[in-house]
Amino acid sequence: MTTDTPIDTRDLGPEDMAARGFKRVSRGDAIRRYCVDVCMCGARQEVLMCANGGCPLWPFRMGNDPFRDPRTMTDEQKAEAAERLRVGRERKTAGDQGATPEGASIWDN
Ligand code: SF4
Repeated sequence: MTTDTPIDTRDLGPEDMAARGFKRVSRGDAIRRYCVDVCMCGARQEVLMCANGGCPLWPFRMGNDPFRDPRTMTDEQKAEAAERLRVGRERKTAGDQGATPEGASIWDN
């Protein structure tokens, strides 16, 4: 989506974004997609090889946040997370449109 009118996303909520055709993505996914789709023109391996340490996105280019402490989970939390992952995969397999398909760009909207 492009627009000539400035839009302050701080004034928008999930419904506003959906109405504008945006699919929900995490910040990590958005950064990763920017690096792959825009900066490296789809060359995923080039994002891994990126040596531009001056870029503010560099620490996040692989889609994770290396500044966050590694999460420690109890066995119960691991089981709950595994269940959430299983349900999410089933939804994705069933064609739920809540996630951006692999390889798609959030700028395709
Ligand atoms: S970290 Fe910066 S320079 Fe490297 S691929 Fe991402 S946007 Fe491009």
